Amino acid sequence: DENRLDDAGTAGTAGTKGPASADGALAHALDRAHVFHSWSAQAALDPIAIAGGLGSLVWDFDGTSYLDFASQLVNVNIGHRHPRVVAAIQAQADVLPTVAPANANLTRGQAASAIVGHAPAGMSKVFFTNGGADANENAIRLARLHTGRDKILSAYRSYHGNTGAAVVATGDWRRIPNEFARGHVHFFGPYLYRSEFWAASPEQETERALRHLEHVLQAEGPQSVAAILLETVVGTAGVLVPPPGYLPGVRALADRYGVLLILDEVMAGFGRTGAWFAFDHFDVTPDLITFAKGVNSGYVPVGGVIIADPIAATFDHRVFPGGLTYSGHPLAMASIVATLDAMATEGIVANAARIGADLLAPGLADLAARHRSIGEVRGLGVFWALELVTDRATREPVPAAFMGALKAELMRRHLLPFLAENRIHVVPPCVVTDDEVARALAIYDEALTVAEATL
Ligand code: PLP
Repeated sequence: DENRLDDAGTAGTAGTKGPASADGALAHALDRAHVFHSWSAQAALDPIAIAGGLGSLVWDFDGTSYLDFASQLVNVNIGHRHPRVVAAIQAQADVLPTVAPANANLTRGQAASAIVGHAPAGMSKVFFTNGGADANENAIRLARLHTGRDKILSAYRSYHGNTGAAVVATGDWRRIPNEFARGHVHFFGPYLYRSEFWAASPEQETERALRHLEHVLQAEGPQSVAAILLETVVGTAGVLVPPPGYLPGVRALADRYGVLLILDEVMAGFGRTGAWFAFDHFDVTPDLITFAKGVNSGYVPVGGVIIADPIAATFDHRVFPGGLTYSGHPLAMASIVATLDAMATEGIVANAARIGADLLAPGLADLAARHRSIGEVRGLGVFWALELVTDRATREPVPAAFMGALKAELMRRHLLPFLAENRIHVVPPCVVTDDEVARALAIYDEALTVAEATL
């Protein structure tokens, strides 16, 4: 399989030593001198420098390879350096490496058409953005302009991106009407393991979470609410898979009160859950879908909003005041066309579903049976979390020192982990192999044993 070959000359398994390069020290020094990092106290950082990658592996400048069980930032669904996607970007760069959004462009049309092909009927337009945050910004803007209402209801446990001030700071006509600086209201979504509703079963959690959401809608005044914005499966805030009936219940509430439903599929979409969209599992159809990450595995930054036809029609004879210089950037578009084609023809979404059901579900349950620190295992596809506790009865989260020890033990065994608060998120690429999953499970097992000795 050419996608598994490693042209750095290493044998393609985690921990293999390949050729070293002096550039590692330079990469590290330049990073520390000049790069200001996301979400960090800068002085505390000591990042490893990644030199290359292929499939589920990345390697450093020493030629040591790591299993990428974070998929970088949970976006490399198709694996690193997929040859067809790389070739598509190169071919596009040779023809037209950039184009203004106002021009029609064949590759952009093909990318939009390919995305719409996986979306529900009646959602035939795509607005392209540079990433996930601005996809949500524009979905919110569409919802407010379409409904003429203001408030956006979203969950306390959610992550939707890190922009928001930009258009408020803008002074020219593009902020008019300025519908950005206004009402956001939060509510509690379902999370049975730490239920806000004292629920004892998934059914009770669903029923009570829906009643809570309805109370919030009524208290805010539904005539002032434009949309409910939800991650279909909450990602960074815990891999919270909605309990049965929750999302259809939210849809029913939205319909009852004339409120739009925006589903954020930035992390959950395009294969991560073993389906094209996470909402395919849950019998619900949104009005707006936001996406990024998996749509092209982040080879070129891109995101977007898939728009239901009645909402798009609002703007047939009325200006949509949003726009981005790089909306529908040709390199991003070419990578989307190639990614979605490769994901379908190579069975990559199906692989994520199979890995989840046949290997990760039983493998992680087995880990939980042998590790007292694992309080809960939850997920689907290649989208899982282990919630770590000091005591299963009290569900007290493990302390930061435990997570620090765990990270060191995982890295030492050549696994790049995704760790958040008291959780391990098990989020490999959708192309991960059976052998790689087996190796990762063994590494989690060993690292947990060492970290548990600190409790
Ligand atoms: N929405 C969700 C669910 C996400 O997980 C993320 C990023 O992790 C975003 C939005 C923001 O996307 P970006 O970082 O591309 O702006």
